[in-house]
Amino acid sequence: VQEFDVLVLGGGYAGLLAALRLGKRLAGKPFRVGLVDRNPYHTLVTELHRVAAGTASPTAVRIPFAKILKDKPVSFVRAEVHALDLRERRVDTSAGALHYKILLVALGGEAETYGIPGVAEHALSATALAPARLFRYRLEHNLARYAYTQDDAFRTVVIGGAGFTGVELAGELAFRAPDFREAFDLPDTEGGLRIFVAEATDRALPPFPEELGRYAARRLAERGVRFLFGSPFREVREEGVLLGDGTFLPARTVAWCGGVRAPEVLRRAGFPIQNGRIPVGNDLRVPGFEDVFAVGDVAFFVDEDLGPLPPTAQTAIQMGPQAAENAAALLTGGSVQPLRAKNRGAVATLGPQDAVGCLYGRYRIYGRLAFWTKRAIEMRYLAILRREAGWYTP
Ligand code: NAD
Repeated sequence: VQEFDVLVLGGGYAGLLAALRLGKRLAGKPFRVGLVDRNPYHTLVTELHRVAAGTASPTAVRIPFAKILKDKPVSFVRAEVHALDLRERRVDTSAGALHYKILLVALGGEAETYGIPGVAEHALSATALAPARLFRYRLEHNLARYAYTQDDAFRTVVIGGAGFTGVELAGELAFRAPDFREAFDLPDTEGGLRIFVAEATDRALPPFPEELGRYAARRLAERGVRFLFGSPFREVREEGVLLGDGTFLPARTVAWCGGVRAPEVLRRAGFPIQNGRIPVGNDLRVPGFEDVFAVGDVAFFVDEDLGPLPPTAQTAIQMGPQAAENAAALLTGGSVQPLRAKNRGAVATLGPQDAVGCLYGRYRIYGRLAFWTKRAIEMRYLAILRREAGWYTP
């Protein structure tokens, strides 16, 4: 049995920054901070579409916790979280029971399947490194099988959802299509690799102004991606996807990008659930649970001015450190502070040279400028991580 004063579940954007901040605030004090994750590394989730399409290697988008937490007063526990007992303040994991005084839940999102039959069994969602990597090899395996079958289903990819995740994956795949055609002897027709995006609504990139969604769809269509609007996934089978209007689209490689929710283990734990996530107050605590914070994709936070915060890395990066400050305050007799959220906007990549974005709710950016802005956002995160990890300290 291990006991922690603060236990952080999940080392994604929110959880890792929270653990680092806790380590800093509680250094030299008699408090134990623990960080639990199933993987021994932090994943740069915003780059997983590149792993799925094969433009980035799995090792390029992860950083070992051992490296980040070296010499930090944070104990890393590599374990799968099986269950939470909120009354006993205990987390049951594959590495045994962990007890806490204060819990910070940052397990990240899992695919919201809306109970659509076959999605969980036959489609992959790039919410973590393992499924992104599996998507890449499933796609290549199916393209290799095309030579034996000459069946178009083996060279067809269907992506469910034209949100940011679906559009970024489609863009990356479209960019790779010429390589795939060459490497797998695909026919010249329809670009070799056939890419469909089936979206339930009539537009792409829902939180953006419509014009930006239209730009993204047009640019990807120019590269051979076929958007099927008003076409919800109704069922996924091994041989393909059944769409809302009853059309069956034969396809062996299916990606599900229909949105995220809090993981099953949290929904079973007895937390309140709102819009698939755990509602939190402005200090990031779960109402009714004095000692439990929820941050990142698992949390549903409604900002007074900005409304509900989207489940993005940007949101997680803001929540993690604030929850850590508040947890440290509870332990050391300070007072908790509300999260002051900022929305700087977002950029969606359309392959490795093109992107579309909307910054500060006003500035619309396109093409290479948008692409390099996205790169700058990724670099900024790494700079924040270095700062929080103290790597700049001489
Ligand atoms: P999302 O919820 O933003 O989009 C899901 C899409 O799937 C929607 O367009 C929805 O209409 C569609 N959909 C739902 N049910 C469907 C069905 N049955 N069939 C077909 N389509 C269906 O989800 P996401 O794209 O995974 O994004 C999740 C969050 O992460 C969002 O807040 C997003 O902004 C963020 N994100 C941001 C970036 C970025 O900033 N570059 C990248 C990826 C994700």
